[in-house]
Amino acid sequence: MIYDSDEWGHVQLGILLDTQWASGAHESATALAQRAEAGRLDLVVVGPGDAEGIRTDTALDPWTTAVWVAAHTGRIALGVAGDPSAPDPSDHAARTAPYPEVVAKARQTLESLAGVRLVADAGWVVAPEGAERAQILALADHHDLPVVVPVRTAHDVERLIPFAASHGGNPSGRSVAARSRRRPGIDYDGLPESLRRTAIEPGDDSFSAVRSTYLRSGAPGLVLRPQTPDEVADAVVFAHRHRHLPLGVRSGGHGISGRSTNDGGLVIDVGALDGIEVVDPRRRRVRVGPGATWKEVAAALNSHGWALGSGDYGGVGVGGLATAGGIGLLSRRHGLTIDHLRSADLVLADGRQVRVSDQEHPDLFWAVRGAGANVGIATSFEFEVDEVDDVGWAKLVLVTDDIEQALLTYGRLASSAPRDTTVFLVTGRPRDGQSVVQLYALVDSDDADVIVERLTPFVALGDLVRQEVVLTRYAGVMAEAEDVGPDGHHGYGEPVSRSALLPELTPAFARDAAQLLHSGTVAYFQLRAMGGAIADVPPDRTAFAHRRSAFQVTAMGRDHGALDPAFDALAVHFHGLYLSFDTDLRPQRLDDAFPPPVLARLRETKALYDPDNLFRDNFNIAPTVDLTVSHAG
Ligand SMILES: Cc1cc2nc3c(=O)[nH]c(=O)nc-3n(C[C@H](O)[C@H](O)[C@H](O)COP(=O)(O)OP(=O)(O)OC[C@H]3O[C@@H](n4cnc5c(N)ncnc54)[C@H](O)[C@@H]3O)c2cc1C
Repeated sequence: MIYDSDEWGHVQLGILLDTQWASGAHESATALAQRAEAGRLDLVVVGPGDAEGIRTDTALDPWTTAVWVAAHTGRIALGVAGDPSAPDPSDHAARTAPYPEVVAKARQTLESLAGVRLVADAGWVVAPEGAERAQILALADHHDLPVVVPVRTAHDVERLIPFAASHGGNPSGRSVAARSRRRPGIDYDGLPESLRRTAIEPGDDSFSAVRSTYLRSGAPGLVLRPQTPDEVADAVVFAHRHRHLPLGVRSGGHGISGRSTNDGGLVIDVGALDGIEVVDPRRRRVRVGPGATWKEVAAALNSHGWALGSGDYGGVGVGGLATAGGIGLLSRRHGLTIDHLRSADLVLADGRQVRVSDQEHPDLFWAVRGAGANVGIATSFEFEVDEVDDVGWAKLVLVTDDIEQALLTYGRLASSAPRDTTVFLVTGRPRDGQSVVQLYALVDSDDADVIVERLTPFVALGDLVRQEVVLTRYAGVMAEAEDVGPDGHHGYGEPVSRSALLPELTPAFARDAAQLLHSGTVAYFQLRAMGGAIADVPPDRTAFAHRRSAFQVTAMGRDHGALDPAFDALAVHFHGLYLSFDTDLRPQRLDDAFPPPVLARLRETKALYDPDNLFRDNFNIAPTVDLTVSHAG
């Protein structure tokens, strides 16, 4: 019978080296494994060939043999059969089994030496010695596992090689080792052709570079890395088929509320869409891909004498920030990042590609500016950017034993400063009654006297212990961020974070915030001055509606159990939050992020464009609310 290559396409074929037989013949065991590897078979399993795994005195130890085979091969996956679970000491048959600790150590050693090639737990099915193609195919079909055939001689291996050659490798081109690390519920082999080459699975060498993000470690089951908007659409359609699984959407990987990684789910990483091009120099219109970082954007615009206000850290990605708001160091002068958005290209939950603007899908254009993560994946943004000359960039460090007074003074000065001046304050737990206060200030002026005049009042916050004030470009400020290396993000710290917006910084807030800091529950506390141009935009213009806020507060801690009660105690001072800095999943946070009419409008938009709630990782706006009716009286 002749099988065409399609029938064989899914078969993973290997050899079983019987350690009973191989006693005293480890060189030939090595030679057989090497021949299998050269013949492009997928797997070598080492272990006793009989079902019970009973050992004789002359049998080789499978783990030691596997180490030997691993050292003499380079690619082929390795399995170890007869890995005994804890033996029962009263069981005679198990008496000769090694101690579990010994096996565990051997296994750990082989894992670290052979890396992803070791597939000890993955499972395989053993074909009868001399099995023919039909039997192998039937076993593969029935069990959906790699098939291993016991071999004793080079001839036995040679006989199998044409089988492997005829199937031309498995359809994904992935080894047994890589496939063994696949997660349940994902149709890996059904991945569209367009995404196969760039997708990364847990067993792939490059997985460690894509599994985590800047602050979060993760272990997704599949990371899709589309290279074009069409491929993003393919990825979304694939994700829609898997909507029972978590879905992370990643651009720059600096998400705080949006995790953009997960455990066992899918990630669509649009980092490759990182183009930056001027589309209309006269109107300062620039198209930017979501995968660019703000550092790259600032550098590209700088050569034209332009800038686009983003955040305070150039490593952050365009996609996450430009769909949420963008409260940054130019905001008081030039508004939020989303206020510069003129259009965006989106892939919707059903895979449709649309351009949104004031004229095209205005409902989506409204939603994308503040709640973009809920409605689609942005594949490009068109911004109108500003002319920005040299700026004053200051980092001041002050020490105070009266943090309450320092907060109050900061509040008064930062909110009454001219629009050209934006000052952020960072502090943490006071130590020995002393608080270290760091001020990050941008003065949008190239006049040194103006810069000094703007900053001098802030010195009243405490004893100035360090100062660094430079005239630089906005690109210079953004350039201070570290680049992400080829080994990707590492998930630093997993902090939990809370956000709130303040209409004003009152003495009562300064008192309560000082108490919070003294309580020690907050490791990182930041106040961002808002106001200025942010408030020029009518609140109903974008889904980011809290236009009248004077400050954004961020508090980070180790766990919500400690942070939430302490932060909630300050709720009387708050009137909303900025979703990019909040990780609290309690439903009330959605009401804080979006005032009731905004939330109602977002739910309508969501029901229209993402009724199955595919995009739910980041401040999920469910399309409908579950109402409960109780009996009156
Ligand atoms: C060090 C640091 C400094 C920061 N400073 C500021 C600041 O000054 N001002 C400010 O406003 N924010 C700031 N942030 C918050 C930041 O804006 C958000 O965390 C933002 O989501 C990060 O974007 P990203 O693309 O890097 O993140 P990612 O982790 O890639 O994405 C985060 C989330 O954004 C959504 N998302 C990502 N890409 C897309 C897309 N293409 N389409 C639709 N949704 C998408 C997804 O829900 C995702 O989970 C800062 C964050 C960090 C870590």
